[in-house]
Amino acid sequence: MSGWVRIAGLGPGDAALVTPEVSDALAKATDVVGYIPYVARVAERAGLTLHASDNRVEIDRSQHALQMAAEGKRVVVVSSGDPGVFAMASAVFEAVENGPVVWRDLEISVLPGITAMLAASARAGAPLGHDFCTINLSDNLKPWGLIEKRLRLAAQADFAMAFYNPRSKSRPEGFVKTLEILREECEPERLILFARAVSTPDEALNISTLGEATPEMADMRTMVIVGSSRTRIIERQGPPILYTPRFTPE
Ligand code: SAH
Repeated sequence: MSGWVRIAGLGPGDAALVTPEVSDALAKATDVVGYIPYVARVAERAGLTLHASDNRVEIDRSQHALQMAAEGKRVVVVSSGDPGVFAMASAVFEAVENGPVVWRDLEISVLPGITAMLAASARAGAPLGHDFCTINLSDNLKPWGLIEKRLRLAAQADFAMAFYNPRSKSRPEGFVKTLEILREECEPERLILFARAVSTPDEALNISTLGEATPEMADMRTMVIVGSSRTRIIERQGPPILYTPRFTPE
């Protein structure tokens, strides 16, 4: 049988949010490749080999997957959320572009998943219901100056903003600076959602304002969504609803 690579998104955590297409690929796979906590979400079974590796070895992992597919194996490369959002799909294609020409003839496909931004938004209401943008706040793969420029311009353009990788132990200062920049560009009442570990047993949602938000409200399991100037809250019994109206007046 000829080999293939499917680059699959496992969704934000809950098994109910894995698409049937991804489950089908996992059922047919001979090998699964990915970062340790994501591979741990794949059920073991006879005939399936799990290859879990540390973070930051995305290109090695991609080359390994492509090499196995070239040998006839059926390989699923797993990411959390969607594989095209700050995840493995680009890493695999980078390996294809720079690898042996024969890799270009392999059957490679990307199977989408529910990205953290959409899972978080759905839990809170509809904060991304109007124009929005997404920024990865990690400066591991790009200069901090670029992040700062994008933050300022997005705030000036009045986009709602969804932030991935907001704050890690190795770069705690980045999110401090992010809040400072946003406070320069937006009013203190601006709504900000901290959605942690959405769709897992550790899930916690916190709706705050730019004036009251503190850096400790975010960590690497948190999605941060900053509303636009139009984003509002509906108070009610139980958790409030955060949403952005679809209509913006002149
Ligand atoms: N490909 C993934 C994103 C990888 S970057 C996706 O599409 O979701 C990792 C970042 O995603 C984390 O730092 C966090 O900001 C966010 N994230 C991933 N899973 C999450 C979850 N269940 N709840 C909240 N944020 C999550």
